[in-house]
Amino acid sequence: MGTLGNPALVLNADFRPLSYYPLSLWSWQDAIKAVFLERVSIIENYDKEVHSPSLTIKIPSVIALKDYITLWRSPAFTRFNVFLRDNFSCQYCHGKFLANELTFDHLIPKCIGGKTTWTNVVSACTSCNVKKGRRLLKYANMNLEKFPVKPNSERLQQNGRNFPPNYLHESWRDYLYWDIELEN
Ligand SMILES: [Zn+2]
Repeated sequence: MGTLGNPALVLNADFRPLSYYPLSLWSWQDAIKAVFLERVSIIENYDKEVHSPSLTIKIPSVIALKDYITLWRSPAFTRFNVFLRDNFSCQYCHGKFLANELTFDHLIPKCIGGKTTWTNVVSACTSCNVKKGRRLLKYANMNLEKFPVKPNSERLQQNGRNFPPNYLHESWRDYLYWDIELEN
């Protein structure tokens, strides 16, 4: 059994996932370690077992933290979080892209003093970024979908729910996506 197989879905003490995108998953080794340290409760198991000389334990598929973790009120200003705020879409042409196809665009270009901040940076596809160049929008003849804001954690969590993971164990379903139709 590899390190990456049989991950555990990690829930906060309120039984909501710690994060949706990327989905909060721990390796089975970390999950079992946390069980023995009594930091988590086992909610559901895989059928698979691991053995040590003294005991046999089923691999947990869903675990919940015993102590509630307050999620940060201010999300980190990272590439990933900017793309997540913008739902992985170019804010100029509205196209959907993968993270590695998106770039940052500074509304007020850096060369005239624009800062790299939540409110001056938007996700843009390469061609829109090139088209806009080092100009203000009004000189580039382009429109912005909406002015960027600093998101809170709840907003990013909500956006993350739009991106179901590739792999879903059946035991995770009860804890995810009430409002999204799941495909197996
Ligand atoms: Zn674009």
